[in-house]
Amino acid sequence: MAVPLLDLKAQHASLAEELRETFARVLESGRFVLGGEVERFEAAMAEWLGVPATLGVSSGTDALIVALMAAGVGPGDEVIVPSFTFFATAGSVSRVGATPVFADVCPHCFTLNPEEVARMVTPRTKALIPVHLFGQTAPLEALFRIAQENGLIVIEDAAQSLGARYGDQPNGTLGDFGAYSFFPTKNLGALGDGGLLVARDPAMQERIRFLRNHGDTSRYRHDYVGGNFRLDALQAALLEVKCPHLDGWIEKRQAVAARYRALLQELPGVVTGCPGDCACQCQPQTGPEGRLVLPATALHGTHTWNQFTLRLPFPGERDALRNWLNERQIGNQVYYPVALNEQPCFAPLGQAGSTPVAQRLTGEVLSLPMFPELTPAQQDEVVEAIRDWLQA
Ligand SMILES: *Cc1c(COP(=O)(O)O)cnc(C)c1O
Repeated sequence: MAVPLLDLKAQHASLAEELRETFARVLESGRFVLGGEVERFEAAMAEWLGVPATLGVSSGTDALIVALMAAGVGPGDEVIVPSFTFFATAGSVSRVGATPVFADVCPHCFTLNPEEVARMVTPRTKALIPVHLFGQTAPLEALFRIAQENGLIVIEDAAQSLGARYGDQPNGTLGDFGAYSFFPTKNLGALGDGGLLVARDPAMQERIRFLRNHGDTSRYRHDYVGGNFRLDALQAALLEVKCPHLDGWIEKRQAVAARYRALLQELPGVVTGCPGDCACQCQPQTGPEGRLVLPATALHGTHTWNQFTLRLPFPGERDALRNWLNERQIGNQVYYPVALNEQPCFAPLGQAGSTPVAQRLTGEVLSLPMFPELTPAQQDEVVEAIRDWLQA
């Protein structure tokens, strides 16, 4: 039985009627950009996140760009980002004319290593973008301490971790800014592109409202140069249909992850967690280094499992398992195959080779099928394929 990496049809089937009705309502309204639909969705998200206000924007990437613009980050400024993340985290920094500075990550939980961040701070550093990668909260306390000591703005990239918490605080609400994405593969997916931005300072929140619409402060008066970073009414309305299900979907992701862990850790050569010696306080490892390492979960926060990502530390084994799964039509993906400081477009920055852990991870990681509707039968198929490979 083939198992997809992600099945959006399963989610949309149960909501199809409501989604169609919503589409008809927006079509009838004749209002397609911002407006009441977007305002209602923003209010729903504010309530869900426990913040005074949120602002819908055109994508997660644009949320990052607008946050950087609002914070006044530009040419001559450095922004510290992890080298192991989706491209947009660093691309947005370049887009505003600033310089991304790549810091290395924890080899166990994949998020920023605070010691490496501290090492990258210079007098030109203006901001820090922690990424809650794969849905796992970054070690915020240590990162906030570095930010405070050096006067850095913190923009949380919560594109993959909507719903995760640090202590009891939702990801994206503790930094100066929190950026979320509604790309269809994220925890809450639009039927197209969309994003959300949260700012802690109400004055910043207001500036963002202008920046997302060309800096238009009152009709055709522009106090800032902004851009077109607006959210569509249709996407907001469709997202609002999905909102009430978000908690349940996250719980299902967590149940899928727990079941993967329970089944996989019984297999020979599989270990879990980390040696417990890293700054992010991952869970202690239960055995010696194995052929297949289950994802560590940090103790400081919750994990929303946007991805369930294994590590295969022995040379060639990641690609061997990948081929094995492909032959059996078991969905899998390498997030991410290239460290960002190794990307051709960043070669002029001269930072290639500066993050050995991230570089090693690009050769070791493999993400398995993960979505709320993944059935036990599908999951068993994935686990059996992995068991057969370990025993082959
Ligand atoms: C998806 C993603 C983004 C960008 O979001 P888009 O909505 O696709 O623009 C940024 N950062 C991370 C970590 C992401 O996973």
